[in-house]
Amino acid sequence: MSNKLVDICVNLTDDVFLGKEKKIIDAANKNNISKMVLVGNDLESSKKVSALAEEFNFISTAGYHPHNAKDWNINSYECLLSILKKGHVKAVGECGLDFNRNFSTPEIQHSVFLEHINLAKQTNLPLFIHERDAFHQMVGILKDNIDDCKNMVVHCFTGTKNALIDYLDLGVHIGLTGWICDDRRGKHLRDFINIIPDDKLFIETDSPYLSPYISNKKPEITSAMKHLNKPEYLVEVAKDVAKYRNQSYDYICEITYQNYLKFFGIDK
Ligand SMILES: [Zn+2]
Repeated sequence: MSNKLVDICVNLTDDVFLGKEKKIIDAANKNNISKMVLVGNDLESSKKVSALAEEFNFISTAGYHPHNAKDWNINSYECLLSILKKGHVKAVGECGLDFNRNFSTPEIQHSVFLEHINLAKQTNLPLFIHERDAFHQMVGILKDNIDDCKNMVVHCFTGTKNALIDYLDLGVHIGLTGWICDDRRGKHLRDFINIIPDDKLFIETDSPYLSPYISNKKPEITSAMKHLNKPEYLVEVAKDVAKYRNQSYDYICEITYQNYLKFFGIDK
């Protein structure tokens, strides 16, 4: 397997990766994960991932995760804007709505998400969207602002077939994680991920989160992933996405790499 893989969601500033960034990246490279999108989830992490992206020749995002929307203040817009002007910062986010645990109130999440839509419009960059348990509200906001939201990815999609259809109707790209490998949580996805058009598909680990409980993999991979999810496990995601879309592994590598170049505006 010599194909290049792109992990579009790596939380490299998470504490568990602290001081091990190079090791994590080297291990990923050995598994043909040649590119990563390093995601920011507040101002500090957006600055950090920008620096890491520059150092390791990746790209990064800048934004406030909905959990952190409560930390938004009058300076946040301008601070993010200055980060987003750097050439290797290629998307606005993570941003969106997460009503699963409501670490920030839904009202604050909503208004901060609108700020991110304005940032995407002003910078002409794509939106990197996180949505959990907030599908109807998210679709409503995207529909109301569709002229300003031309390029969007909903990362870590774990919803229903109807939700997927509605997102695709809005022209949204879809990121699939290791849930697809997980017999307990991701089984429902296997029946319909083949409706995602080739040019809308991304794969990701969302590491170090979302460790999938894989039952059909080698035990050593399963237990390692349970312990800590890492970008190198993107290979397992790619294999299962290929399997359930009835496409080859090589083909998944190729289309997701091409989508990465086009969506994030990379000149190779
Ligand atoms: Zn997320």
